[in-house]
Amino acid sequence: MHTSVREMTCTKQIFSKRVCIQVGRLVGAAFTSCRRFHAEIVRLESSGLPIIHHGKYVCDLPANHRFPMGKFPRVLQCLLKDQVIAENQVWLPEIASQELLSCVHTEEYLNSFINGKVNEQEQRRTGFPWSEGIVSRCRYETGGTVLAAEVALQRGLACSTAGGTHHAFPSFGSGFCLLNDLAVAAKHLMGTSSSKRKVLIVDLDVHQGDGTAFIFQEEPRVFTFSVHCGKNFPLRKQQSDLDVSLEDGLEDKEYLSTVETHLPCLLETFRPDLVLYDAGVDPHREDELGRLRLTDHGLYQRDLYVLKTVVSRGIPVAAVIGGGYSRDIDILAARHSIIHRAATQVWRECLT
Ligand SMILES: [Zn+2]
Repeated sequence: MHTSVREMTCTKQIFSKRVCIQVGRLVGAAFTSCRRFHAEIVRLESSGLPIIHHGKYVCDLPANHRFPMGKFPRVLQCLLKDQVIAENQVWLPEIASQELLSCVHTEEYLNSFINGKVNEQEQRRTGFPWSEGIVSRCRYETGGTVLAAEVALQRGLACSTAGGTHHAFPSFGSGFCLLNDLAVAAKHLMGTSSSKRKVLIVDLDVHQGDGTAFIFQEEPRVFTFSVHCGKNFPLRKQQSDLDVSLEDGLEDKEYLSTVETHLPCLLETFRPDLVLYDAGVDPHREDELGRLRLTDHGLYQRDLYVLKTVVSRGIPVAAVIGGGYSRDIDILAARHSIIHRAATQVWRECLT
């Protein structure tokens, strides 16, 4: 295992900061109430954990495309079927406007992506053929992560059923990621606060959050923490504020102990006003793209630990599902629903 923290002279200086401180409606007919996008008009319509979901999180892909697009609606179906959540817990995000996206992405990139002027080489890099559907999907997904963050600030905890597109850079998409929802949410939430909130991004997807790390490398109010398998994509890593690079084949116990080693210290030193949590399930032993060996139980313990550790300090947390790859969409959706199940437990134990 290799851990690298940026030099102490970096703009964030988490340890010296410590010294300073010490000295909706679901799309479909079943839902009747539509919750609005902005946190100030959030209404108290359910006492349950807020789940952010939109029917437009999904779009058509060519037959046999290897990205498991069908997982997004299936995660919600799985949660409802198993009665983990009720329908009135579902919040409907708005589509992310071009103006909102421009807090992270360049105007040139947004114009070409939104208007379909993406060349073949760029499409190969993202893994997706361009379509109006994919643009819409990514914009709703980003709106969902922003709403999750806004609602988390009001309620303490919220989870989307998509999100975690951490390989997207300001001027290009990469590795199934076209818009960086985590970065947009972090920038948006910082920008709407008069006191300039600090955001900690905890990225436990098996792949490094390279786009997010790049976007915030000079931003002292966002701390990027990535735990990933060193041999996984991307080949060329960016530098997060804290990277923990894991060896292939790591199992539950060692993985959890790695997270436990770093997270409390980051919370105490950086003292975020909001945590964005990418709960990717691709560290799972059966994941088609990951190289680690976590079990479902290990992922549950991980998510429970992260959420409890953050929430018990009174810090709001918004979770997104991150990466997960399997040809069996039902198995994959159930795996992604682990974060919502863990969040439900934390909600009941700590927030009600
Ligand atoms: Zn991943």
